[in-house]
Amino acid sequence: MCGVIGIFGHPEASNLAYLGLHALQHRGQESAGIVSSDGQQLRWVREMGHVGEIFTEERLRQLPGSAAIGHVRYSTTGDSVSKNAQPLAVNYAHGSIAIAHNGNLVDAADVRARLENEGSIFQSTSDTEIILHLIAHSREGDLPSRIADALRSVHGAYSLVFLSETSLIVVRDALGIRPLSLGRHKKSGWVVASETCAFELIEAEYIRDIEPGEMLVIDSDGARSLRPFMPEEPRRCVFEWIYFARPDSNIAGQSVYAARENMGRRLALEHPVPADIVIPVPDSGTAAAIGYARESGIPFDQGLIRSHYIGRTFIEPTESIRHFGVKLKLSPVRDVLAGKRVIVVDDSIVRGTTSGKIIGMIRSAGAREVHLRISSPPTIGPCHYGIDTPDRNKLIASSHTVDEVRRFVGADSLGYLSLEGLHQSLSSVLTQHEHRGLCDGCFSNDYPIPLPAPARTRQLRLISV
Ligand code: AMP
Repeated sequence: MCGVIGIFGHPEASNLAYLGLHALQHRGQESAGIVSSDGQQLRWVREMGHVGEIFTEERLRQLPGSAAIGHVRYSTTGDSVSKNAQPLAVNYAHGSIAIAHNGNLVDAADVRARLENEGSIFQSTSDTEIILHLIAHSREGDLPSRIADALRSVHGAYSLVFLSETSLIVVRDALGIRPLSLGRHKKSGWVVASETCAFELIEAEYIRDIEPGEMLVIDSDGARSLRPFMPEEPRRCVFEWIYFARPDSNIAGQSVYAARENMGRRLALEHPVPADIVIPVPDSGTAAAIGYARESGIPFDQGLIRSHYIGRTFIEPTESIRHFGVKLKLSPVRDVLAGKRVIVVDDSIVRGTTSGKIIGMIRSAGAREVHLRISSPPTIGPCHYGIDTPDRNKLIASSHTVDEVRRFVGADSLGYLSLEGLHQSLSSVLTQHEHRGLCDGCFSNDYPIPLPAPARTRQLRLISV
């Protein structure tokens, strides 16, 4: 759960990176940073907090040059502390290099332990630093080869942007789990970003997605595409379309908004119920609620108002803040809800606490019935590839039936989109080729990248050999 951006060949690179990070703020709100290059030297600013708070005019002036990379972070590996803020930047035998990472390495602990045994000293607890150590250890000749060599030693999801004094290098893992798109600024230069909504803001044109398994090297000679990894069937993360990406972004060239609307339409076909209004949990449920209303013919209304001065509730790491957040973030509109049979649409149920509070709010505003509709299947497994879903034992649907979840959240009825319905919703916005390869591990337990065996198991095996 992070966002990355890279700019090359524009005189105001760090200003554009700053604006782009604003558009990616929803992907991480713990820390943000920018590293720039003026062709000779890397400079950086990175801190805990939101993009708008960290980057003053004065700080942006400290980041000169025509190339820059930026990052917004929500931790999935490593603590939420300033030493883990990205982009990370180091000097090593071959010069300077900075890295910004969206994704998660599944074997980070093992690779780190091996590197530490060989003498590496780590400055952070994030999995991303491992890649820098592997690059420094590599015996390959040029930077693209050293990066490829490093990445062949790790497993997991990564959409990466690297900055050296003279080049921007971007890499997407062979399964293409996290998104990464390429654009061109209307005046000059190249742009890469986790989501295309960043292009809109900085007036760049979308060209294409960085392909799964592609490395793109951008320098003063232009851009060249390399294929350093064995080709694999892509497995793009389905949850980006359901919740994580902004609805005004396109992933794999396809509209997130249209995908969500389709999910809502499909949900209406799978779980119809007589009602007076369809309302979304804003903003995550809005496009799906519109789809549900259009398909069912039941009027769409705004029964919940969202405060825009508080971020995503879930994204705040502690339980106490999360509970507080739901009340701070949403409030019911009595005039819309009183006396009505209400269908409320949200994108997912994780622990079940948010839905329970929302249903309580809708009832206390006088609704006669509350029917909860979820535009994704039950979340039964954690994500190991960069989305912060909690451990399986905290996922309510992993150990409870749909009716038990319904009772827990206090709804009159509950309907989830089926896994098949989810795939059907996406198949009409994705080409057949793109649709074939999706990762839906959190809904199916079908994980494309195997996890390393727990340390204890390996120890037992060692002893018995
Ligand atoms: P919960 O209270 O744990 O069931 O949280 C469910 C709410 O969190 C839903 O409204 C979702 O929109 C939102 N949500 C689901 N997954 C995530 C995630 N990985 N990060 C942030 N928010 C999420």
